[in-house]
Amino acid sequence: MIPEFEVTILGNTSSIPVHGRHHTAQVVRFGQDFLLLDCGEAMQLQARAFKIRVSKINTIFISHLHGDHYLGLVGLLSSYHLAKRTSPLTLFGPQGLDEIITTHFRWSNTKLSYPLTFVQTHDDGLNLLLDTPRYQVYSFPLKHRLPTTGFLIKEKHGLRSMIKEKLQQDNLSFAAIQSLRKGIDYKDENGKKYKVNAYTHPLPPLRSYAYCSDTIYNPDLKPYLENVDLLYHESTFMEDNRERAAVTFHSTAKQAAEIAKISGVKKLLLGHFSSRYTDLELMLGEAKSVFPSSILSEEGQTYAI
Ligand SMILES: [Zn+2]
Repeated sequence: MIPEFEVTILGNTSSIPVHGRHHTAQVVRFGQDFLLLDCGEAMQLQARAFKIRVSKINTIFISHLHGDHYLGLVGLLSSYHLAKRTSPLTLFGPQGLDEIITTHFRWSNTKLSYPLTFVQTHDDGLNLLLDTPRYQVYSFPLKHRLPTTGFLIKEKHGLRSMIKEKLQQDNLSFAAIQSLRKGIDYKDENGKKYKVNAYTHPLPPLRSYAYCSDTIYNPDLKPYLENVDLLYHESTFMEDNRERAAVTFHSTAKQAAEIAKISGVKKLLLGHFSSRYTDLELMLGEAKSVFPSSILSEEGQTYAI
């Protein structure tokens, strides 16, 4: 069975939440696992509006400490406590985030009802943060005004599925099936060989998702983003503000599209829109002129990976 792998956008705007848009937050679902990428201030309300159960989230990843990416976090952690959560929660984020949280809960005299583990991220290359049987999460460095990381979620192969007819025809032993499903050829006690390719279906292609929250135009991202199925890349400005994008360490839609193009990704999802833009269609046009498979992220929408 192929697990569901998808991302739901809860917020896609930068700096000031306006035009009915909200600060950055997105929930990635892989099978039964729910991962939160950044946690802007309206995250809880948005999750409720779009019927995402926040109690299912066990891992949170924060890209950097600009308020529009994490100001909803203390609220979310508080709500878990009020709901008497007991299941462990792991939080990945840059240096200082643990201090912010600890300070809040110390001065609010709160001892959390659940174990919260903080793991510091480092913006120094590709780092494996989470390794599960079916997927891995890595951080990679982004160039911004603060230490910032993007996140890369890569599917891993599960067990192979057997070709039913061959299974019945050759009356395979349990040990043989176990070995073949793991992708290992099998030899029985009589020396008969069973080849993986002859008894199992080919593996489906592995899926991947990359998240670039805030970054200046940076072609050095290519090795991290190469061939991903879906790339979310910030698109704060249009070309009319290309200089402002550079000064503030952000990107234009066209620059995001250039990154998508050179990295050979399948689809580009744009977000982190500046409050100066009400209508985003012109911005989309600029991206599409470089990379036709560009789409505007929409809050409440779920995108299959
Ligand atoms: Zn930022």
